[in-house]
Amino acid sequence: AHRPLSGQKAIVTGASSGIGAGIARAFARAGAAVGINYRSGRDAAEALVEEIFREGGEAIALGADVSDEAQVQAMFGAFLGAFGRLDILVANSGIQQDAPFAEMTAAQWRRVIDVNLTGQFLCAREAVRTFLAQGAASDGPSRAAGKIVCMSSVHDVIPWAGHANYAASKGGVAMLVKTLAQELAEKRIRVNAISPGAIRTPINREAWETAEAEARLLALIPYGRIGEPEDVAEAAIWLASDASDYVVGTTLYVDGGMTLYPAFRGNG
Ligand code: NAD
Repeated sequence: AHRPLSGQKAIVTGASSGIGAGIARAFARAGAAVGINYRSGRDAAEALVEEIFREGGEAIALGADVSDEAQVQAMFGAFLGAFGRLDILVANSGIQQDAPFAEMTAAQWRRVIDVNLTGQFLCAREAVRTFLAQGAASDGPSRAAGKIVCMSSVHDVIPWAGHANYAASKGGVAMLVKTLAQELAEKRIRVNAISPGAIRTPINREAWETAEAEARLLALIPYGRIGEPEDVAEAAIWLASDASDYVVGTTLYVDGGMTLYPAFRGNG
């Protein structure tokens, strides 16, 4: 099989569930050794590690709250202790705490910004420190000295009533990614983002679990189906591999056309 991440070492945050689990599984099949970060989903993370081992891959589970600086540093230390180097970070952990704006508490605002935005800052900073300490690209298994893929959302461009904290966090991620990419390209570190549309995971269960909800959701998706974690995983493999070696600071929308103003269809 084609193994575009052969010999590479990757941390995927929030990999106990949903998109992160799909990426971890796909990365292992693509040849990477994978650190499977989780916050509360220890059993799910351990089960995924075992699944990857059964398929002949390499993985470890890494418990850490990505919004906690000390826990993030300990997680990178544990990963490097196990695998010796780092080539790829997928900063994927994210949460929603939804509320009409007038009712949103400061705690809801802070928690979503802490996990979705500060968590990506903390993980990206540890990854960059590791990439820089590892030195020249020629020593590593890929052309770049390191790759970072940040999980954003179509809500980095589509406003989302009732989700001001989430949309603000993802707008922040989009600009964090571009700035890091601009700053770090000369160090041969590539930073890019994926903005998924509606992907079938626990985070948005109420948007697809009944037929009525699914129909409302499908009206927003020109391609006519809800996305699966594997759709995002394929994009992540590409952005993490040498196939995208000249791709720096871009956001790849994996959304079945959700960002194409679908309400304008048929209004010509
Ligand atoms: P999910 O709820 O299935 O997974 C979220 C993951 O983040 C879990 O593994 C969880 O343990 C982890 N997590 C939560 N808080 C954490 C913390 N403090 N520290 C470490 N890990 C933590 O949801 P998902 O849909 O797989 O979401 C993954 C990412 O994709 C998120 O950033 C989300 O915003 C983004 N996203 C999802 C969709 C979608 O439609 N599902 C669309 C756009 C963007």
